Amino acid sequence: MTVLRLFNFLTRKKEVFRPLRRNVVGFYACGPTVYNYAHIGNLRTYIFEDVLRRTLEYAGYKVKHVMNITDVDDKIIKGANATGKNIHTFSEPYKKAFFEDIKKLNILPAWKYPEATKHIKEMAALILKLLKSKLAYKAEGSVYFDVSKFKNYGKLSGLKKRELKIGARVDADEYEKNAGEDFVLWKAKKTAEPNWPARFAGEARPLWGRPGWHIECSAMSMKYLGASFDIHAGGVDLLFPHHENEIAQSEGATNKKFVKYFLEGEHLLADGKRMAKSAGIFFTLRDLEKKGFSPLAFRYLALSAHYRSQLNFTLESLKAAGNSLERLWGFVRMLSGSQQVFSRLTLPRSSGGSDASQKLTDFRQQFSSAIFNDLNTSKALAVVWKIVNEYNKKPEKFNVGAVLSLLYDFDKVLGLGLREVVQVKPTKEILALSKEREKARKAGNFAVADEIRRKITAIGWQIKDTPSGPELIHA
Ligand code: AMP
Ligand code: ZN
Repeated sequence: MTVLRLFNFLTRKKEVFRPLRRNVVGFYACGPTVYNYAHIGNLRTYIFEDVLRRTLEYAGYKVKHVMNITDVDDKIIKGANATGKNIHTFSEPYKKAFFEDIKKLNILPAWKYPEATKHIKEMAALILKLLKSKLAYKAEGSVYFDVSKFKNYGKLSGLKKRELKIGARVDADEYEKNAGEDFVLWKAKKTAEPNWPARFAGEARPLWGRPGWHIECSAMSMKYLGASFDIHAGGVDLLFPHHENEIAQSEGATNKKFVKYFLEGEHLLADGKRMAKSAGIFFTLRDLEKKGFSPLAFRYLALSAHYRSQLNFTLESLKAAGNSLERLWGFVRMLSGSQQVFSRLTLPRSSGGSDASQKLTDFRQQFSSAIFNDLNTSKALAVVWKIVNEYNKKPEKFNVGAVLSLLYDFDKVLGLGLREVVQVKPTKEILALSKEREKARKAGNFAVADEIRRKITAIGWQIKDTPSGPELIHA
């Protein structure tokens, strides 16, 4: 099998991926700060992380994918106060919108989505450890991390020891690299800010306050993935200070290596500058849908560039991506249609000469080499188009089923909805039968449920019971 190589920001090299445990990969991705709708720059990063997770699964690993939800930070508090809401009611619609967006983009659900406000205890425990080992100190009701005490501070982002501003402190969650200062772990209680009690050693009474942003990710990642895990990802703007500080907090508290591979995705640009709400030029997925674009057209556009290259977003390039995707969907529909005609009429079909099946084997190999080479999605898409072109030149040479299943196989990584595009929708009658069966099953009437299942199977459908309920699959 082709080996998987990933660019590791810790070493600034492409490395062969070797997981810490044999088959399970621990993967943490920094999730959304739910203070507004995600813009498509944020979504580009989530697509890159989804491709990474799918690639790991394609390579045969089981992935424990954790993505946090930052539901308390400076930006959220500012937004909540401006609208007169508490942080929960303020952020709830944005959280909901985030889940809708990722579903529309065919981003596979993570294993866990921990929320910061539900992990204050874990954060306080981590801060306590840092206080005990003298890597952190208290000042004016807050707790700070002393960057001069952590030997490897700056390694990830390339910040030099001499650039550190010893003794200076920074309270903001986000700041520039030239402020290599002691950063805040626990922020002293302020009026008009949510706060929690935390018991740190030596305090007669709890220290009321709220966590800094960076400690959130250290606490939540280690809670679900252990002190050491395989991959941590985010957008490249998180390299400093966020990921740098996460390493300092986690390794400082555990004395173990926090993460083996750091992967950082490049930005989506608008007018040559990083797309950001603060820059004023940004689109949400809803904006694109209102303009008539399919969300998957954006996914296709994101896949057309390497995740470590900047991508300048224009509506023209999105349109071109949408056209390519429509063409690909059309091709898959055509193949699927002709496959059904073959099977219905029992027409002889090409079994695919040895020449053609060798070609398909080569394509599979080319696809894997591209995707396993640090997720080269644009090259992987090029392989898809090679297949389309070869088939169109001499359709009679190919076995339609073999071509289709190869494309479906690639779509496990690409996530462009190739299977869904040919799926027949269940009729009302079939949906009603499925509901009836579910009712019977829940009531423990398994004989009735099985009987209905047989009926459903007889009319060409299959029921798959999933954790989120029964799924109907067209046989
Ligand atoms: P936030 O909700 O601001 O915490 O950001 C969520 C994710 O989006 C993080 O991984 C950021 O690094 C990433 N991100 C922010 N802006 C962009 C952009 N213009 N292009 C790509 N990713 C971005
Ligand atoms: Zn994070």
